[in-house]
Amino acid sequence: MQVNCERLKSNLIELSKIGYNEADGGVYRPGYSDADMQARRWLQERAQAAGFETFMDGAGNVFFGRGKRDKDVVLMGSHIDSVPAGGMFDGALGVMAALEVMQTLDEHNVDLATPLWAVATAEEEGRFGGMLGAQAIAGKLNPEWLMSAHDADNVYLKDAMAAQNLDAMAALEAAWQPEQLKAYLELHIEQGPVLFQENLQIGVVEGISGVFKWIVHLKGKADHAGTAPMDMRSDAFMGLADFAHEIERIIAENGTDKTRITVGKVELKPGYPHTVPGEAVFTIVGRDMDEGVMQEVASACRKALSAIARKHRLMFEYEQTSWLAPSPCSEPLTQLIEEQVQQLGYRYTRMPSGAGHDTQFLSELTEAGLIFIPSVNGVSHAPDEWSHWHDVEMGANVLLHAVLATMKDIGN
Ligand SMILES: [Zn+2]
Repeated sequence: MQVNCERLKSNLIELSKIGYNEADGGVYRPGYSDADMQARRWLQERAQAAGFETFMDGAGNVFFGRGKRDKDVVLMGSHIDSVPAGGMFDGALGVMAALEVMQTLDEHNVDLATPLWAVATAEEEGRFGGMLGAQAIAGKLNPEWLMSAHDADNVYLKDAMAAQNLDAMAALEAAWQPEQLKAYLELHIEQGPVLFQENLQIGVVEGISGVFKWIVHLKGKADHAGTAPMDMRSDAFMGLADFAHEIERIIAENGTDKTRITVGKVELKPGYPHTVPGEAVFTIVGRDMDEGVMQEVASACRKALSAIARKHRLMFEYEQTSWLAPSPCSEPLTQLIEEQVQQLGYRYTRMPSGAGHDTQFLSELTEAGLIFIPSVNGVSHAPDEWSHWHDVEMGANVLLHAVLATMKDIGN
């Protein structure tokens, strides 16, 4: 059994025209914008025309499928909102592939004894913080947050939702109970370079990496760049530079091949060309699939920074602004996906996801599995985000067979 790639392609292209901007070629469908809601209505019409039931919950999540939803539903999904100037595959792929899988099963008269449903989640991309629809389904929202959340332009979530005839408090009623679900499956583009570079066709995702963020201050003494001899300086930049060189060693000694450490934002004070920097303020973002490894890596960063501070006569402080534990996918479901990929004969690897996805909240509720296809040159969140149609087809076929196998295996 194979999906109809031509139909999937034409659906994806049609969806990409909603919120399309001629000027930069990007898709603009931020959560609860007019274009986002137009896309949701379009999706509901498309699902209805294909013979499925559909409804929108209080969070703006659009569901489509057939059968009861009280027990053992196999749910497919992803999101259809986008970042500003986004691409046509991020999120949209998983939703349109879900519809394609349902239509294919229907055409092959597969008895959907286990109810099969799909969801296009709301506000995944972070206009108001991200994964709002998935959090609503997982029962993670609270009234205080719903009332106080706002976007970068200070538009409140409750007002943005009201403008679309949605009541923010109704998002609290969108929660599902664990017994309603048997499994959740998501197909998504990788949004990174690994599959494309390694000429692979499918990524079987083992989970979403955990991530911590620090803001570090190295404080020395601002001095005249001409009069202060090199050996009498407390140069904060030198401390930062030394730390940068330690990252490779820290990962080799304390991390794994899935560890990532990034210094992404740096500020030198006072920041004048003729002044020795008296302070360096920078971020450290660390990731791994294992929380124990994250702790070891964090502790190694701390030790390295305090040794470096001593060497350069600096004061060292840091603030941990976030710590999110890794979110592993279901191992039985991951294995089941891997078996389908092997039977289909596609080239694949098991891999972590460095980006967040709806899957991480659904995995708190049920067995969750995530499938990646290659992103050309690893590009995403940009107008030139692209995935080849043959990879789209393979990804949808993996989703199709994973759904079929899940309806048989998981939970029996
Ligand atoms: Zn996405």
